[in-house]
Amino acid sequence: MNANLTFFPVDNGDMTLVRLADSVTTTILIDVNIRVAADDPEDTTRDVAADLRARLPRDEKGRPYVDAFLLSHPDKDHCTGFEKHFHLGPLADYADDKKPDAQKRIVIREIWSSPIVFRRACKTHPLCSDAQAFNKEAKRRVQRFRDCSVGDADRILILGEDENGKTDDLTAILVRTGDTFQQVNGCHNSYFSAQLLAPRPQQSEEDEAVLSKNHSSTILNMKIASSLAHLDSCRFLTAGDAEVAIWERLWTRYKDTPDVLAYDVLQAPHHCSWHTLSNDSWSQLKEKVKVSADARSALAQARTGALIIASCKPIKDDDADPPCIRAQREYKSILTGVGGLFFCTGETPNTWAPEPLEIEITAAGAKKKAARTSAAAAVAAVAAPRAG
Ligand SMILES: [Zn+2]
Repeated sequence: MNANLTFFPVDNGDMTLVRLADSVTTTILIDVNIRVAADDPEDTTRDVAADLRARLPRDEKGRPYVDAFLLSHPDKDHCTGFEKHFHLGPLADYADDKKPDAQKRIVIREIWSSPIVFRRACKTHPLCSDAQAFNKEAKRRVQRFRDCSVGDADRILILGEDENGKTDDLTAILVRTGDTFQQVNGCHNSYFSAQLLAPRPQQSEEDEAVLSKNHSSTILNMKIASSLAHLDSCRFLTAGDAEVAIWERLWTRYKDTPDVLAYDVLQAPHHCSWHTLSNDSWSQLKEKVKVSADARSALAQARTGALIIASCKPIKDDDADPPCIRAQREYKSILTGVGGLFFCTGETPNTWAPEPLEIEITAAGAKKKAARTSAAAAVAAVAAPRAG
């Protein structure tokens, strides 16, 4: 199977699945936003839990699993449904083997978590119950590592150093900010590497306040191979809800080596919010807003034919933010120079019944797969010749 990315339609929230081109189809899930309405068969909201399960492998016991789960930051729209749909605790306690496949909780083989991002989030708001459940599970796995008793589905990778040397004894499972790693679920993977660009380790008190208010998130630039002959087929830059001050700092750090920020697919940070690109308020200043040149430069390293995906509600010409029409315009202007395309998950293939947006990765690069809309399916059904 080709490597691919799936962006699930979850309104203003993120839920993105990366599947690699290796023989076992390694899977990395970034965030989850499975709302109550999506689980309600009586509701028309897209059943993204079913969409996710349909794309996951099963282990030898028939349990669905992901090889890695990354939580970009612990906001509700990035972890809703975590407790309900994922198995937490030791694998020996898995209780769903007798349930129908659709009700089996998903096993997470390795968690990717950033303690500094959690600390910054706690400074601005209380954690929701799904975030608390994630945090508890991450701590359980760190304890397993410290106890030298890591089994299946106990692994954790720590992204970024924690404060006051709290991760100093975890170097074997720690990725320092700026470093590149190439392992998934404890194994080297030739089809994947990722550079950790954020969070930055703890800063001065003043800087910490700014980073906390800017939705500090884990930022990874993944390099995804289409085959062993084409290791750099797709760079996928994923950044949670990171806002303008974080992008300004990234540009200051990498402006002399901008290839670090280069991408073929960018998930527009914070659901296409204007606050990613500017310090001004769109609803207050409208067309008088000014773009931050540094933040824009950090987000403008698009390679030829790049795609920018906004994971959000349909984008309207109004005061809303996110998603913000002015941000969409800026991203489209970035793409003009490279012949790229912009997509919104809430509008694909249409606004009334959005479907998962699939990006296929081949030696020729990253391309959106044509969606088979219900309208197109209906036309095809009518046009199909009848047997006999
Ligand atoms: Zn968000």
